[in-house]
Amino acid sequence: MEKVVNKNDLVEITIEDIGSNGEGIGKYQGYTLFVKDTAVGDRALVKVMKTGKTYGFARLMKLVKESKYRVEPRCPIAAQCGGCQLQHMDYNKQLEYKENKVRNCLTRIGGFKEIPMEPISGMEEPFYYRNKSQFPVGKRKDGKVAIGFYASRTHFIVDTEHCYIGAKVNVNIIKFMRTFIEQYHIEPYDEVNHQGLLRHILTRVGFRTGEVMVCLIINGDDIPHKEELIKGLQEIPGMKSICLNINKEKTNVILGETIVPLWGETYITDYIGDIAYRISPLSFYQVNPIQTKKLYDIALDYADLNGDEVVWDLYCGIGTISLFLAQKAKMVYGVEIIPQAIEDAKTNASINGITNAEFFVGAAEEVLPQKYKEENIYADVIVVDPPRKGCDQSLLDTILAMKPKKVVYVSCDPATLARDLKYLCEKDYELVKVRAVDQFSHSVHVESTILMTYCGSEEK
Ligand code: SAH
Repeated sequence: MEKVVNKNDLVEITIEDIGSNGEGIGKYQGYTLFVKDTAVGDRALVKVMKTGKTYGFARLMKLVKESKYRVEPRCPIAAQCGGCQLQHMDYNKQLEYKENKVRNCLTRIGGFKEIPMEPISGMEEPFYYRNKSQFPVGKRKDGKVAIGFYASRTHFIVDTEHCYIGAKVNVNIIKFMRTFIEQYHIEPYDEVNHQGLLRHILTRVGFRTGEVMVCLIINGDDIPHKEELIKGLQEIPGMKSICLNINKEKTNVILGETIVPLWGETYITDYIGDIAYRISPLSFYQVNPIQTKKLYDIALDYADLNGDEVVWDLYCGIGTISLFLAQKAKMVYGVEIIPQAIEDAKTNASINGITNAEFFVGAAEEVLPQKYKEENIYADVIVVDPPRKGCDQSLLDTILAMKPKKVVYVSCDPATLARDLKYLCEKDYELVKVRAVDQFSHSVHVESTILMTYCGSEEK
């Protein structure tokens, strides 16, 4: 298509769709433009910033006519902050967008014609839902400390203490930390020169128990004025754990490997349903406890256990899904690559008195094939909950060889989900149910759970 616009042109377009990163999509004389901070139905004056052969990017200059799906973001810095991409969009419209995102991936990437979609599970109150927050610490231009969140696609810190999707207690924690840093001249980390001490403030909150953890990530071995630090943080209601995390690497990875306890335990406890989980600073734990309960209930419902089944839970983290399933299965085996998480999983089994769960450290794509080859292990149900990159093909091949009656796939990336489902469903599996769950309200991310059943001819 011939380019009809050039850089810096001002054009008026109507936003007709939303892209996978939350940008509005509109057309000017047939040429597609992506525009951040717009909603479907907006008529907008935009400035062209970048043009490619088939599409370009533009910046919103003025809303000529507001879409009926547009709402006033609750957070005053929603547009600058990189955390929420959709706060300006009506929540029901957000849910529709996410459901479509999953459906589109399954159609376009997965090649599925009919998608057995169940309605997306949304939140009743989609604010203050996150149990984990990571605030980068830096310096403002005026030399004062900046604590907040990175602006979209940059490492510029948008200064704030009030995140509308984070736990409310964060406001007290960040207010105190700001005063502490200024008063005792704690040097914020400067990632360009790899100098300074305090890199990030990590908070975790047990929504059911009210327990609070603060972990300071530092480029050093210790922090000055510990007594004052502990005394101040201790006064925050629910404080249970104060610790340091050492990260001296020049890296974008937030956490280092070493935890130094300062006060209290090095974990907090929270519940999903009736199961208690111990959570340490390094462990993966789903960030939205209300929606996680719904997600795990769906997974349990899809697994449809009656107490006789052997279940493998791959990518099990601290054993969250495994222990949830163990309530209804004969035996659950969990596999996870991070040794510390497996330690936590074993502790979690023990504090809940669960004896029918066993855990293995290693890559799922290595442990499962090896155990299948050497021990001829069996599964009625296999659950997978991989990171965004999805499952390794060797794991999918082992699933095909093991022929479990059911495969439950929990996914945080519909594109890799669709790729993996295609692989399994071109062979011996059938897609039976798909349900998206809004774990990350106001962001473009979407979680989904799907059920596949064995439909090959070979009897097990
Ligand atoms: N099911 C858990 C964790 C899901 S997150 C929950 O709901 O809480 C994905 C997990 O997969 C993380 O804990 C990560 O450490 C782990 N992981 C990443 N790559 C892996 C691999 N190749 N094999 C096994 N586990 C892996």
